[in-house]
Amino acid sequence: MSESVDSLLAILGSRHPWVALTGAGISSASGIPTYRDHSGTWLGSQPIQHDEFVTDPLKRQRYWSRSALGWPRVAAAHPNKSHTALVKLEQLGLLAGVITQNVDRLHQRAGSRSVIDLHGRLDQVKCLDCGKVESRKVVQDWIERHNALPDTSSLTLRPDGDADLPDRYVSDFHAPYCGACGGVVMPGVVFFGGTVPSPVVDDCYQMIDVSEGMLVIGSSLSVYSGLRFCRYAVDQGKPLVILNQGQTRADDLCTHKFSRAPFTLMAECADYFLNTSQEPLHG
Ligand SMILES: [Zn+2]
Repeated sequence: MSESVDSLLAILGSRHPWVALTGAGISSASGIPTYRDHSGTWLGSQPIQHDEFVTDPLKRQRYWSRSALGWPRVAAAHPNKSHTALVKLEQLGLLAGVITQNVDRLHQRAGSRSVIDLHGRLDQVKCLDCGKVESRKVVQDWIERHNALPDTSSLTLRPDGDADLPDRYVSDFHAPYCGACGGVVMPGVVFFGGTVPSPVVDDCYQMIDVSEGMLVIGSSLSVYSGLRFCRYAVDQGKPLVILNQGQTRADDLCTHKFSRAPFTLMAECADYFLNTSQEPLHG
């Protein structure tokens, strides 16, 4: 099977709507740092576990000290053509919605209307004690008022992706707390070892139920939370199309695999829609 954009569009036009499952590979072209996980930790080789965050104040302090340096890059990122292509597919009625493993909200900012944030959203912070939700911007402003953040451009990255932050920066870091009750606050994302809320999972299954096929873009499906939806779609006899460079855990399940960089393929898809007023996909 050809890996051209024409091949992709032919597949998408053959039956619809599709549901897209997107991962980090769709946001890297927006300058979102490639996290080892989806927790929003930056410059840290060890992804934090949910239980560590909840029970260990030192681990929390370390998380926030690094996340404080990574967040500005996420906040400054803009959607790219991959996001734009999915907006267009939705507008044409070819896409029922997007299930994203990304926490950057770029699909919504691009204009996609039906989006499920499977792993939550990094732009919100939630109190584990009273449940108050605060915007990350407000929390980041607090962090920057109470800490002297080092200049990240001067940091040396080690081969394992960790950075040599000044010891005292981490140990002296003032972690944020709930402004309402003084409790422990956590970014609105699902850490490793954490659980995707069951209403969110149910929403995903419903989106797949009303779709005719699943399109995975830019994810190796390394975590079960995404892989199970591929299995669910395949169990319904629906085609599974994967756009990813490198292996995925669903390669043996898929009907088509495009191994090119997903960004370039989706960018060509966006350009196709920009350059044509026809909608031959409905043929
Ligand atoms: Zn609280």
